[in-house]
Amino acid sequence: MRPTIFAEMSALALATGAVNLGQGFPDDDGPESVKRVAADAILGGVNQYPPGAGIPALRRAIAAHQARHYGIDIDVEREILVTTGATEAIAAALLALVEPGAGVLTLEPFYDAYGALIALAGGEHVTVPLVPTADGFRPDLSALAEAAARPGVRVLLLNTPHNPTGAVLRPAELRAVAEAALRHDLLVVTDEVYEHLTFDGVAHVPIATLPGMAERTLTISSVGKTFSFTGWKVGWVSGPAELVDAVRSVKQFLTYVSGAPFQPAVAHALDLETLDPSADPEAGFVAELAASLAQRRDLLTGALEQAGMTPLRPEGTYFVIADAAALIARLGLADAAALCRALPELCGVVAVPVSAFTRPGSVTDAALRHHVRFTFTKSEATLEEAALRLPRLRA
Ligand SMILES: *Cc1c(COP(=O)(O)O)cnc(C)c1O
Repeated sequence: MRPTIFAEMSALALATGAVNLGQGFPDDDGPESVKRVAADAILGGVNQYPPGAGIPALRRAIAAHQARHYGIDIDVEREILVTTGATEAIAAALLALVEPGAGVLTLEPFYDAYGALIALAGGEHVTVPLVPTADGFRPDLSALAEAAARPGVRVLLLNTPHNPTGAVLRPAELRAVAEAALRHDLLVVTDEVYEHLTFDGVAHVPIATLPGMAERTLTISSVGKTFSFTGWKVGWVSGPAELVDAVRSVKQFLTYVSGAPFQPAVAHALDLETLDPSADPEAGFVAELAASLAQRRDLLTGALEQAGMTPLRPEGTYFVIADAAALIARLGLADAAALCRALPELCGVVAVPVSAFTRPGSVTDAALRHHVRFTFTKSEATLEEAALRLPRLRA
């Protein structure tokens, strides 16, 4: 098996002592009180198979979270499934809903697992460009309408806030997506793992809240990004009972059940914001994390500009994409992949070419050949070090 670009770049960071802004995992863990619940659960004997759908306390916490934030009403008995990370929810949903040969629509660039999972399900991956504009990356809505109409397309796999671009789909864009799904009777699987990590007052809107969409949408999230526990791998999917049931029948034979001692801890994490800060000083954890990420985004985008790149301002997630065409031309390199291989030596920083998130030969692949993704979910000290190093690129 060929190593992924992520493995190659992480190895390069290790070998050269470069600051690794390639892979997106936080330097700092999530709330202490949440860790405590997990540790107590292990020591207290919560170590055998939990219920297949997830423990009731976690299903109740997920339903309360969806009601509190979005006004979504979920039956905790039939409309929620706890999974092994969002990844398993996406995998099981695609395996359940995609017949061999059926088309699955995603935006492009896309989270790298999507291409592999669609292939695993035997689906045909159809993509719609996210286009770099002065207003960040925006979906090409006429391409979307056209792609949704293609014969054989059955499922639309959406991701907002979006990795790798940091785009947060606007209400008008979501309406266009919903309209395409309704017109062509598509099922929607929506990956909302960055739902709370948005900036500048931009709010995430779940597509399931749009008229006519709840009945055809599976909504997915997880503990990893919201609570800075990316290694815990507890996720969930909610939606109409018959769709959740189809996902459950696949999950049953993928992992059977998911991490027993983590489940009460994740329930506590989801309930944190309902607690009085005097009861738990970390009650405001998620809002503070989003505010701190926005500051770190600003620190990194400033440094990228000083280095001679053009960052496309993200409104959410852990990531910013920068257009490095001018830099690549000045250095006489071929593309962003070549730049990323040279970056550790040039300035002591590691990043990932956006081609890791495109399909070779696609329109988007060609359009984003000179674009590089950086993560800002690192400590301020790490980002300040990167900000000192990146301007070295400015000859
Ligand atoms: C990190 C990430 C995931 C994976 O979530 P897990 O809960 O760790 O499985 C899924 N989708 C996107 C877009 C991500 O960035």
